[in-house]
Amino acid sequence: MEFFYVCSARLVLSNARLADGSTDFGAQRRTLVVEDGVIVSTELDQAAAPEGALDLAGATVVPGLIDAHMHVLSSEITRNPGFGPPPALKGGEPRARELGYFVLAAMAKAVLEAGITTVRDVGCDDYEAIVLRQAVNLGVVPGPQVLSCGRIISATSPGGVLFEAMYRQADGPDEVRKAVREQLRAGADFIKFMATGARSVELENPEPAQLTRAEMHAIIDEAHRMGVRVAAHAEGLDGARIAIEEGVDTIEHGLSLHREPALLEAMAERGGVLVPTLSTFHDLAERFTDKFAPPLVEQAKRQLEEAYATLLAARKAGVTIALGHDSGPPGDAAIELVRMVEGGLSTAEALAAGTAGSAKALGLTDRGTLQVGKRADLLVVDGDPLADIGVLNDRAAVRIVVKHGELVLDRR
Ligand SMILES: [Zn+2]
Repeated sequence: MEFFYVCSARLVLSNARLADGSTDFGAQRRTLVVEDGVIVSTELDQAAAPEGALDLAGATVVPGLIDAHMHVLSSEITRNPGFGPPPALKGGEPRARELGYFVLAAMAKAVLEAGITTVRDVGCDDYEAIVLRQAVNLGVVPGPQVLSCGRIISATSPGGVLFEAMYRQADGPDEVRKAVREQLRAGADFIKFMATGARSVELENPEPAQLTRAEMHAIIDEAHRMGVRVAAHAEGLDGARIAIEEGVDTIEHGLSLHREPALLEAMAERGGVLVPTLSTFHDLAERFTDKFAPPLVEQAKRQLEEAYATLLAARKAGVTIALGHDSGPPGDAAIELVRMVEGGLSTAEALAAGTAGSAKALGLTDRGTLQVGKRADLLVVDGDPLADIGVLNDRAAVRIVVKHGELVLDRR
């Protein structure tokens, strides 16, 4: 596989079909022109292609995918079969902590080569994602644009024992406000908090709200005051309700929301985004059942059904839906779009979720569609994702990836 950067002020893709799930481009072949990293034209093909144009031979251009729920974790092995170093064996050479940074670099490359040009890290160990963000931004390693929450703000909780390097445990309005400031000091792009416990922790009940209303209010107030967005991990309904009422920007998982459609309507009205993370429920309920405590697997089977019910209820209420893989291996995020279609969304709705919906979740209004003026983050695939969304999840179908106007992968 070839990997290189081609930096050019102008990029022309002709003989292309365009699709972003939001705009009706029809089936005719078009020429997409990029100048200085921005889409400047998407006109129908002329009789002769412009000079220097790359002939896409009818392949489809879609916006670069955006994974709104990724854990940029070098230590994650369970969910990444086939990726990263093999599990350590007893008595083997000790592994250096710094090995993790090479794993992160490999992860970033795999994600970008799959056409995922932006990711939102919603919880890493020891601020690793912020290091990766810096490495990518400085051009040291190829990778998607990374946004990170730093540490997740959580109440003192059993999850804090299991995820010690990922959580910032804090209690009371003043301390959680300080925890927000600490994340901003560390370079966080946005704030994430645990409105409820987690389905992956046996000692936690994910139903009740884990933070109080006063605590959630303080977190959201401080983050918004400082101009950053806020994501809430919310499984049970009470935690989701308080987070929505206090003005959170995105609900992660949110599987209980189908039980109270009025809450989804309120969310839609405020411009909130749901990141349903269907894949993660498949992981616990079906895919990795031998890796989790049995009660968690049973719980996940119910949650899986609820997550799909909420997907449809959210669509009905007009809530923006975003792609959040919350699973592995890196680069497989588009399976979430396949699951959305299996759950009842149209292919166009799923494609819009993986692009414009996720862009809205991240607060990045400069991308997510193929409209003139948008940032040129692009994925070129064989086939038609509006006929079969699965082509986005087929690594062999990926032809070209463009990030910020630069050709970062070319497999024509
Ligand atoms: Zn997650």
